[in-house]
Amino acid sequence: MDKRTFIRLFSALIASPVISNLLAWASGDKLKNWAGNLEYSTENLYPANSLDQIREFVKKQSRLKVLGTRHCFNNIADSKYNFLSLKPMDKVVALDPEARTVTVEAGMSYGQLCPYLDSKGFALHNLASLPHISIAGACTTATHGSGVKNGNLATAASALEIVTADGELIKLSRQNDGETFRGAVVGLGALGVIAKVTLDIQPTFMMRQYVYENLPLAQLKEHFDAIESSAYSVSLFTDWQKQRLNEVWIKSRVEAGHAFDATPEFFGAKLATRNLHPIAELSAENCTEQMGVPGPWYERLPHFRMGFTPSAGKELQSEYFVPREHALEAILAVERLRDQVTPHLMISEIRAIAADDLWMSPCYKQACITLHFTWKQDWPAVSKLLPVIEKELAPFNARPHWGKLFTTSPASLKSIYAKLPEFVQLSKKYDPQGKFRNEFLERNIFG
Ligand SMILES: Cc1cc2nc3c(=O)[nH]c(=O)nc-3n(C[C@H](O)[C@H](O)[C@H](O)COP(=O)(O)OP(=O)(O)OC[C@H]3O[C@@H](n4cnc5c(N)ncnc54)[C@H](O)[C@@H]3O)c2cc1C
Repeated sequence: MDKRTFIRLFSALIASPVISNLLAWASGDKLKNWAGNLEYSTENLYPANSLDQIREFVKKQSRLKVLGTRHCFNNIADSKYNFLSLKPMDKVVALDPEARTVTVEAGMSYGQLCPYLDSKGFALHNLASLPHISIAGACTTATHGSGVKNGNLATAASALEIVTADGELIKLSRQNDGETFRGAVVGLGALGVIAKVTLDIQPTFMMRQYVYENLPLAQLKEHFDAIESSAYSVSLFTDWQKQRLNEVWIKSRVEAGHAFDATPEFFGAKLATRNLHPIAELSAENCTEQMGVPGPWYERLPHFRMGFTPSAGKELQSEYFVPREHALEAILAVERLRDQVTPHLMISEIRAIAADDLWMSPCYKQACITLHFTWKQDWPAVSKLLPVIEKELAPFNARPHWGKLFTTSPASLKSIYAKLPEFVQLSKKYDPQGKFRNEFLERNIFG
């Protein structure tokens, strides 16, 4: 189907802003990921409006990928054949206050879900740095926020409805499907089209966010655990220079006994007196409110505000998960590379994530810290640097973020993901012919 046919076929849906976005692409722009560093390999993009449309499309096609909100930096979402977009399917299906769950259509983003949940008196346990991303895409790539007691976003999933390669709908739940469910949640888009996701919810809560500037590296070395555990969610930002961490973001729940005591100094860092962006040169207007102003969980857990550009925009990202017991060694290993890293960097972020039991989660059976890099958009330079960083982090079995840029070999991935062979079997059960596979999956998972 060419662009003209696409416009004709879907002109009936123009009223929806989603479709307008799709039409913006159809009117000439190349189909790219959010950061613009990746041009997808086909422009065949079909929006689905219903479960029947998903099933029909999957039955007809021999190869396809679902495209979420396109926030991955690598080719995990890419297809040479067809894309299915669930963007028009962005409704809440059911809120169950008794069971404390919410079920949503898979095209919904956190930015759409969170205000609704809050208005009903509920919250999610955690969010990523931005609310703009699709819930299904985030869960399937093990997207995470921070907090020593907080599992990644996929750990909130308690049930999935997936259209498998034969067009059939399967329902998997934590309660009924044990290991199969734990294998399917971080599914890397390999099992089928996630049509609905059910998430655990909890009573809504308020938060305060504080930012401290210039935490001495010496203090981090001495007090890493105390710093990371000082509040519900803690993020450390650094450019790796001057033996200090540029900013410490502390997100505290406003609850008696749990609230963070915001003293003017925090392990040698100074409490900021104005809102800041993690990349100091950029406007804090794009960031969630700081300086201890109380606000709802969904306006404090992400760093970036819905409706504003998150992070820098024109950038690349990489991120590595390291077991918590090696946190300091790993941080210091990267710090030693500072003069190679900093020239290509916008900012790095260090976060903590609790262990989980999801097969393909980088936190499978191990609590982790993550070392994240927001790079300037210079892939030739970054691609030379990643193997250097990966070599330093290899002794800690560092696992790359599934949705960001890495050069870790498929052989290394196999050696650090104990459940990978079982995941391959599970994928083959639901997709025997490899309908949902692409170059990324063939190389890193099935190769
Ligand atoms: C500015 C920025 C900030 C970020 N911050 C964080 C962060 O704080 N923490 C973090 O961990 N990551 C972060 N990321 C990474 C990223 O957000 C996730 O990996 C991303 O959310 C994936 O979701 P998506 O909908 O954009 O997926 P896409 O990139 O569109 O697709 C990713 C994968 O999901 C699959 N998929 C999507 N929807 C479905 C579906 N319905 N059924 C089956 N498969 C599906 C695709 O086929 C593909 O395999 C950030 C990215 C950006 C650009």
